[in-house]
Amino acid sequence: MSNLRFQVVAEAFKKKPLEITAPAERPCEYFSKKVFNREKMYKYLPKQVYEKMMDVIDNGARLDLTVADAVAAGMKQWASENGVTHYTHWFQPLTEGTAEKHDSFIEHDGKGGMIEEFSGKLLVQQEPDASSFPSGGIRSTFEARGYSAWDPTSPVFIIDDTLCIPTVFISYSGEALDYKAPLLKSLHAVNVAATDVCHYFYPDVKKVISTLGWEQEYFLVDEGLYSARPDLLLTGRTLMGHDSAKNQQMDDHYFGTIPDRVQAFMKDLEIQALELGIPCKTRHNEVAPNQFELAPIFEETNLAVDHNMLLMSLMRKVARKHGFRVLLHEKPFAGINGSGKHNNWSLSTDTGVRLHAPGKSTEDTLRFVVFIVETLMGVYRHNGLIKASIMSASNAHRLGANEAPPAIISSFLGKQVTELLDHIEKADSNALSMVGKQGMKMDIPEIPEIMIDNTDRNRTSPFAFTGNRFEFRAVGSEANCASAMIALNSAVAEALADFKCRVDRRLAEISGDKMFAPASDGKPAHSAKFHAILDVIREDIKTCKPIRFDGNGYSDEWVAEAERRGLDTEKSCPVIFERYLDESSIVMFSKLGVMTRKELEARNEVKWETYTKKIQIEARVLGDLSMNHIIPVATRYQSQLLENVRNMNDTFGTDKAAKLSERNIKIIEEIAGRTSKIEAMVDDLVNARKKANIIEDEHKKAIAYHDTVAPKMDEIRYQIDKLELIVDDACWPLPKYRELLFIR
Ligand code: ADP
Ligand code: MG
Repeated sequence: MSNLRFQVVAEAFKKKPLEITAPAERPCEYFSKKVFNREKMYKYLPKQVYEKMMDVIDNGARLDLTVADAVAAGMKQWASENGVTHYTHWFQPLTEGTAEKHDSFIEHDGKGGMIEEFSGKLLVQQEPDASSFPSGGIRSTFEARGYSAWDPTSPVFIIDDTLCIPTVFISYSGEALDYKAPLLKSLHAVNVAATDVCHYFYPDVKKVISTLGWEQEYFLVDEGLYSARPDLLLTGRTLMGHDSAKNQQMDDHYFGTIPDRVQAFMKDLEIQALELGIPCKTRHNEVAPNQFELAPIFEETNLAVDHNMLLMSLMRKVARKHGFRVLLHEKPFAGINGSGKHNNWSLSTDTGVRLHAPGKSTEDTLRFVVFIVETLMGVYRHNGLIKASIMSASNAHRLGANEAPPAIISSFLGKQVTELLDHIEKADSNALSMVGKQGMKMDIPEIPEIMIDNTDRNRTSPFAFTGNRFEFRAVGSEANCASAMIALNSAVAEALADFKCRVDRRLAEISGDKMFAPASDGKPAHSAKFHAILDVIREDIKTCKPIRFDGNGYSDEWVAEAERRGLDTEKSCPVIFERYLDESSIVMFSKLGVMTRKELEARNEVKWETYTKKIQIEARVLGDLSMNHIIPVATRYQSQLLENVRNMNDTFGTDKAAKLSERNIKIIEEIAGRTSKIEAMVDDLVNARKKANIIEDEHKKAIAYHDTVAPKMDEIRYQIDKLELIVDDACWPLPKYRELLFIR
């Protein structure tokens, strides 16, 4: 029984938690220790340079090379004091994860020795050999140059001996080859549009900031067990494996006690994340066995995205130190919950107003309504695109399964906000002079004061209002949040800009109207303005109604109802990507200066190609495992049974043996049936792949992979999982779900 599986299981059980010594300081003291933040800039930069940097960070001022030189010098000094010898431009290409190329500070001194050098030029721009990053054809290989350019709004940080500089990554002709460049542009667009709208209410607002608080779900698996599962190793998920008899049905994992080994991992991870300035706040078990969550306090969106990318790579590293592997895949195990990354999103002003939170005054409440409704307008108009922004080969397994949001974007608002919107929609616009119904005594009776009750929640909604923010729950655990944030911020920017135009037009129509002549409270313009806003908002409440859904998102009726409402109900991942190339998407992105048609087309090529490659790899791995793991093992067991049947015959004679061997013969036949089915289906799978591979067009190829290759994998898996149940446990080579899923 010297099966590798038993060895790794036995070892996994013996592992002890690592001793993690917490730093002597308190978390608030070591927080951001490895980040060149404002405090360190103040210390290491000359006063004028520091002030210039603040202007760059806060107001988007231009940065010239002399300032960059001074900043580089200060950074270098701080880095050297922390043992740093190398630096890297850290960027987010269109693959998963981040990329970096490390250079050391050393240079020839011209006298046969070495000096250490770091200039503004090196800080601001680099030309990594970009030819092997996906570009969707923007950069043909003979023009391989792409360059990375410093993003001063996200602070540099230290990992080991390396100074990491967050950068955008663009082609030589200026097209974005990464997530950060379009993200920054979308944040700028929403800032401009939202600031304009804010001026109706708060003239002092200079800037509106998009905020993001992500909640990262993940699985941990013992490293030994992981290494004995080629499917996990190569694809990030299990391609086979029968349900464990016990999994999440007892609901005993969620918020349960965290196993010691995991606790040590979390502690270690949190210390390192805090040192990198990631404001970790919450950790707990999730619903599925071995599933956990980490959530920080929300931050400005660009920084939050960088922090999430950084955290994911930190998790991978720290997990290995603790003898684990972290699984960020959205659906590593069939039959139990997958992992998501809720994106809590909102907008707030530089003056401290949270635009999705209700306030005390009528003005604040109207502002609240405007931002809620225009967010819904953006999400409604671009619901297909927003779904495309979170879609991937791996997230497709999770969406639409009864655990994660359905593959239809809709928004849950809760009882109070729903009532408020209904009230405004129905109210008579001439009601200004009336005293409010229901005893409300306001200068605008349509707008009652509201207090949001936080307990009003709907777990099935992909885009739920949660009291002072929206929670976008369809984002995948492995995804770069930037993708969702680009689409969402752009859609809302467009809606707000459009709203502003219509309000201004309406205002021009009604001003001078007698009805809005100065009132006794001496605020005439006020009323006219608010009336124009109300008129437009009322119209928009009606328009975006189809996106509002408070019912059960898991039900079949919802799919039919969503179709009636004209919402996007497409389920095929490669088809959903087409939404990026809808005219409405191209117009929106290019109008806002976020992405051009060319960039969108190129990025879609990358998406389709990535989709195909993922399914292709999975199909190959499954084919190989079927033929050289599963079938041989099943056949060997079958031979043992045959041997037994033969011995029975020899010992007892045919008649008696036939009776005694009934069970074994049944299993022999079942194995024969299932293995020959598997073999035939693997052949089919290979043929389907071959057929798809000759399709030149990436879009059509991805669709072929989705329609003809992926479904065959499910059928093969079904047969393998049945075999797992009947083949002798002692021969089964791959760690089973019950072993993978329970860390002691
Ligand atoms: P739950 O699991 O109940 O959804 P959590 O406390 O786990 O809530 O996560 C909520 C996340 O929302 C946290 O990251 C929190 O900082 C974030 N958040 C709170 N307010 C805002 C806001 N205005 N904008 C963005 N994120 C926010
Ligand atoms: Mg949440």
